[in-house]
Formats: sequence, structure tokens, C-alpha cells
Amino acid sequence: MNENNQAMNSVERWNYAWEKLKEETSFCERCSLCNGRNRTVYGEGSISNRLMFIGEAPGADEDEQGIPFVGKAGQLLTGILEAAGIDRNEIFITNVVKCRPPGNRIPTIEEMVACEDILKSQIALLNPRIIVCLGATPTKWIIKSEKNISSIRGKWFDWKGIQVMPMFHPSYLLRNPSRKKGAPKELTWIDIQEVRRKWKEDA
Ligand code: URA
Repeated sequence: MNENNQAMNSVERWNYAWEKLKEETSFCERCSLCNGRNRTVYGEGSISNRLMFIGEAPGADEDEQGIPFVGKAGQLLTGILEAAGIDRNEIFITNVVKCRPPGNRIPTIEEMVACEDILKSQIALLNPRIIVCLGATPTKWIIKSEKNISSIRGKWFDWKGIQVMPMFHPSYLLRNPSRKKGAPKELTWIDIQEVRRKWKEDA
């Protein structure tokens, strides 16, 4: 077997694991969120750029379409990314839980635990250099910080060799639309530019 064959085999194995995880997620019944869902929301985007964004949980639009961040908050996020020169297709985007919690409530600890293996497997397969945690839920889940998001947003944390940055959740920005200096929108603009800088710097 030559080197090419070996490389192909490992790529094939990786693709198989990724597709299998996606398929298993679509049938998942590990917690009661499966009872109310229309679709699981596995995640989408680049599986090779090693830049991962993690949100909280799908909302109504995401549950309808099976795609993360497609509602109002998602559209804002897409705009922020584009303004910073990051095409949404360049990142992989997912959530801590893959099914919509009723009424868009925060997922319970039990639901996050039930979904944890999927997120861990996604991280293992994607091997990201950078993870951006959108809001408190993924931040608590990934870096286990109980600190207020306002005090840790924009900072880099080393988590298992991955550079992790907490940022405000785009829903929070929708509720706080001020463009004044020091307001969440301006801080997010600073943060996303820092993410791009680090991503390009390390590339
Ligand atoms: N909010 C999230 O945290 N994730 C989505 O996919 C949509 C809204």
C-alpha cells in the first residue's frame, strides 16, 4: 500500500465517522427533547478550517430547518462574521444541545449531559484550533467558568490545547442594540476581529 492509499483510507475513515455521528444524532433519543423536535440540528459549515463556533441550542427556525443559527440571531451572527471578513461557510457552527428546548429555555444539565458525547465527538473529529463560545451556556460547558460572560468575553482560554474565546450570544445583542462605545455590540465587534486575527495568524 503506498502513502496515497493510506491517506485515502484515513480520510475515508474520518468521513465515515463524521457521517455516522450525524446519522446517529438524527435518531437520538437520549433525552426528552427528542419528543418535541421537528429536526435535530447537528451543525454545518467547514470541516477542514478548524474554526468552530458553539451556541446554546436550536430555536424555532433552526428546529424547522435543521440548520443552526438561521433565525434572527443567526442572521445577525452571519452579518457580524461577514463584516469581519469571515464567510459563514468557513466555520463549523453547532450548539451544545442538538434539539430545541421547549419555549427556547436554557437546556437543563441533564439535557446537556445527554448531548455531551455528540459535541465531544464533533470536537474530536474537527480538531479545532479555535472555539468561539456564543454566550454563557457553551462557555460554562466548555471551560467550566461560572464567571459572568461580560467579564470573560474577548479573552483567550487554553482548553486542552484549543484556544477558546467566549463572546456575547447574538440574541443578547438583539436585546441590546446600542452602538455606543463599550456597548455589547461594539465589544463583539472587537472580539470577532480578534478571532479573525488569531485564526489567520495561526493558519
Ligand atoms: N441560538 C443558538 O444558541 N443556537 C442556534 O442555533 C440558534 C439560536
